[in-house]
Amino acid sequence: MKIVKISAQRPDPRIIEEAAQVIRRGGLVIFPTETVYGLGADAFNAKAVAKIFKAKGRPEGKPLIVHVAKKSAISTLARAIPSVARKLVQKFWPGPLTLVFHANTKLPKLVTGISNKSSILGTMELLSQAGGKRRTVAIRMPDHPVALAFIRAAGPIAAPSANFSGDPPPRSIREIPKALLEKVDLVLDAGRTPVGAPSTIVDLVGKDPVVLRKGAISKTVLMRAIVR
Ligand code: AMP
Ligand code: MG
Repeated sequence: MKIVKISAQRPDPRIIEEAAQVIRRGGLVIFPTETVYGLGADAFNAKAVAKIFKAKGRPEGKPLIVHVAKKSAISTLARAIPSVARKLVQKFWPGPLTLVFHANTKLPKLVTGISNKSSILGTMELLSQAGGKRRTVAIRMPDHPVALAFIRAAGPIAAPSANFSGDPPPRSIREIPKALLEKVDLVLDAGRTPVGAPSTIVDLVGKDPVVLRKGAISKTVLMRAIVR
């Protein structure tokens, strides 16, 4: 494990490249976003993603947010993108809004969730039979120069908060337990994260948008953007 200080506003490209190399090798990087610190891996590398769950003690079946550096990346991660998505992305990205779509089938299972809509079918058996069709992916574009530079260099990054499962998410490296820091390859320390509250999560899989998690963007502000 290595901790490197990096400027939040003008990240050193050499440090960014080092972090991207760790990701390409299937390693783990702790990096800042505007909300909290994330513990990231290559979103398309199933082995690397599995390491995140092991490090955090995160239960399988709790999917990860995929972080992107450009809006167009949605089309490589999701399918069936509803028109309301364009409105929300336009208004809130980069920023603390996570959107849930039907997933591209190339994504590792651990990254994806399963749409609630499938529960209409009832039995678990039916669920697993048709499971491939109902996988979902949560995507967000963080508003932080370090996160954006890192993701631009490394590609889409699957990342939960950099804490042990169940603990509060960290706004600074100081708040991350040593035992967790030791489990990753590289830590990018850009000081305290500006927002602190987690991203608001909105499910766009069903007929109407549904707020799955309250966060930095209020429901009122969100709904105003949706009806517009
Ligand atoms: P954290 O674990 O702190 O990074 O929070 C990530 C949150 O995103 C968790 O509450 C997940 O349940 C949620 N999440 C990630 N992917 C999905 C998805 N595909 N569908 C619904 N929620 C998701
Ligand atoms: Mg968390």
